[in-house]
Amino acid sequence: MANNAADKSALKLKRLQDMTVKGKKVLVRVDFNVPLSKAGKVEDDTRIKETVPTIKSLIEAGAKIILISHLGRPKGKPEAKYSLKPAVAVLEKLLGSPVAFANDCVGPEAEKAVAALKPGAVVLLENLRFHAGEEANDAGFAKQLAKLGDLFVQDAFGAIHRAHASTAGIPKYLPGAIGLLVQRELEFLDRVIGNPTRPFLAVIGGAKVSDKLGVLNKLLDRVDALVIGGGMAYTFLQAQGVSIGKSLLEKDRIQEAQSVIEKAYSKKVECLLPADHLAVREIKADAQVTVTQGMAIPADLIGVDIGPHTIEFFGEQIAKAKTIFWNGPMGIFEIEAFAKGSLAVATAMAEATQKGAITIVGGGDSLSVLAKSGLASQMTHCSTGGGASLELLEGKVLPGLAALAS
Ligand code: AMP
Repeated sequence: MANNAADKSALKLKRLQDMTVKGKKVLVRVDFNVPLSKAGKVEDDTRIKETVPTIKSLIEAGAKIILISHLGRPKGKPEAKYSLKPAVAVLEKLLGSPVAFANDCVGPEAEKAVAALKPGAVVLLENLRFHAGEEANDAGFAKQLAKLGDLFVQDAFGAIHRAHASTAGIPKYLPGAIGLLVQRELEFLDRVIGNPTRPFLAVIGGAKVSDKLGVLNKLLDRVDALVIGGGMAYTFLQAQGVSIGKSLLEKDRIQEAQSVIEKAYSKKVECLLPADHLAVREIKADAQVTVTQGMAIPADLIGVDIGPHTIEFFGEQIAKAKTIFWNGPMGIFEIEAFAKGSLAVATAMAEATQKGAITIVGGGDSLSVLAKSGLASQMTHCSTGGGASLELLEGKVLPGLAALAS
């Protein structure tokens, strides 16, 4: 446990409780990167809700609270559809108190809004990514942000694996600490990484093999069984010589996929791939769906979800495990007809939780499956950071934490 990046003692991170905040201007990096409807309504407020304990604790302590966040991927300049303004009403409702808003996160607008703050009051500043300096981790931009506060609190778990101005930059110029959400996420992942109740099963899905090879390799040192589903499974099946038709394939990763399978074998970790699939000629909502007879996919078809037989035996694996970590959908879940596999995993995990297993879900897509099916509350822990939780499991030191470490 002492060696992993999620271990606070290893990184010597200050916590919110360790700071005296009364009357101080506290700059809080939150993750309000929420999905918005076309009409600009917050469609899922999970990420906002998760930051409420930190904000409430600062309100109660009489701090002046300045919230900063990113939303979406504006290209370093203002874009109305990525405004954080819709988050204000949601936050006001959750806090039961007013929240001010400033149209810019730096400069005169922001400074004026901060100067007007009374102890216990909250202001949300406009999207950090309306400035190119945020993603470029520009020192000048980080300094401008730091100028707004006396203290810094990092509570954007979903962003701490990125080296941006608001994660890696600000702590160079302001004394900082982790917020309650980051603290809870780290404690949870630490427990799982350091001392999981066994058997420990990881269920990994999604499209990109290349993104997940590192974590798969590391997970093999920790888990007892590994289930691979989603688009990335086809590269593994191809590596095993199985025909995958026109399914997603990362040709340049076949060899590495094969190495993962070999490593699993040598470590006696069960590595399970889909045994059947839902396949279509064309990816569209009303496509005619074929259930394959076995692992192979006919030459003219594309695999879009795991099949019924796979749902059953992945479910059996989940039922057998005592700790289960899930990241990534089992199919193109955005289309209802191809969401069956992901929903089945969510349901099996909910049943496992009820029987006493520890279930952890990380990653935006897996969380939307849970939100759609109403099963989120039936998991032991839903991590707000898919990328960050995977990188912690991989044993990486996250830039947003390294910057805060003393
Ligand atoms: P990732 O960002 O790598 O976690 O991948 C998430 C994406 O994987 C989702 O948008 C899914 O639609 C996609 N996905 C899952 N299964 C498949 C599949 N069989 N073929 C293509 N894309 C898939």
